[in-house]
Amino acid sequence: MGRRLLFLGPQGVGKGTQAAKLAKLIGVPHVSTGDMLRQAVAEGTDLGMRAKAVMDAGGLVSDDLVVAMVKERFAKSDAQCGYLLDGFPRNESQAVALDRAINGNAVELVISLTADEDELLRRMEARAEEEGRTDDTPEAMQRRLALYWEETAPLADYYPAHDVPVATVDGMGTIDEVFHRVVAALAEIDP
Ligand code: ADP
Repeated sequence: MGRRLLFLGPQGVGKGTQAAKLAKLIGVPHVSTGDMLRQAVAEGTDLGMRAKAVMDAGGLVSDDLVVAMVKERFAKSDAQCGYLLDGFPRNESQAVALDRAINGNAVELVISLTADEDELLRRMEARAEEEGRTDDTPEAMQRRLALYWEETAPLADYYPAHDVPVATVDGMGTIDEVFHRVVAALAEIDP
């Protein structure tokens, strides 16, 4: 089974939830750049202070900062047996940087989660109420979704063009229903 995986999907699709469950099942670290950045902000590190304003506005933190953060994470021992990336790469230049950084240890499979736009907005609003993230204002949510379609969604073509398979999984339904589909898609592509 491929152990170097990448989750792709718009905000609100349930990527973080599914990525955490799958990482646990297959025993690889869940590497979420959003979580790492929020932690840096909470700890008030130099990186966190530089990233906070951009994040709150729903923009993208600079590629240099994020790529350096991921490289540092990949150097840790638990990442040597594989990884499940979530929220990175977010554009083609990050994807290229990732390929270079992990030369010979590249992504083996992309899981692309999808859902209706109405459902995405509904889930983002629900999460905003539950979690109170400072970047869950209506403006920042819209900006993040717009950036997703512009910069991140094209990665669904980038990977097949680089011979990395993309499994598309329907993200509508309950968490367990979607998780079953994710596991089935993984088994089908890499039994
Ligand atoms: P969401 O998927 O809801 O946007 P994330 O937790 O993935 O939430 O990311 C939160 C914020 O962190 C993003 O809006 C962005 O500012 C920043 N971020 C996360 N990953 C990246 C990345 N790979 N490149 C640039 N910025 C990022």
